[in-house]
Amino acid sequence: MSPSDTADTPKITVSKEIIWHMTCGSCSYYWTVPTMSEADNPARRSWTCPLCATKSDAVEQDF
Ligand SMILES: [Zn+2]
Repeated sequence: MSPSDTADTPKITVSKEIIWHMTCGSCSYYWTVPTMSEADNPARRSWTCPLCATKSDAVEQDF
């Protein structure tokens, strides 16, 4: 560490949050899934809709 790093100066810490948007294909209910991990892609597994309880595979959509 350089001497400036040991000084008691305030820092702003930053972290990146990814928010996945989920839309149920059965009832069109929309919800979000936040994650801090780039590798945590919800399209890797199936999900159960919080509203209608339909279990479906998740497919990532390109815009
Ligand atoms: Zn649904």
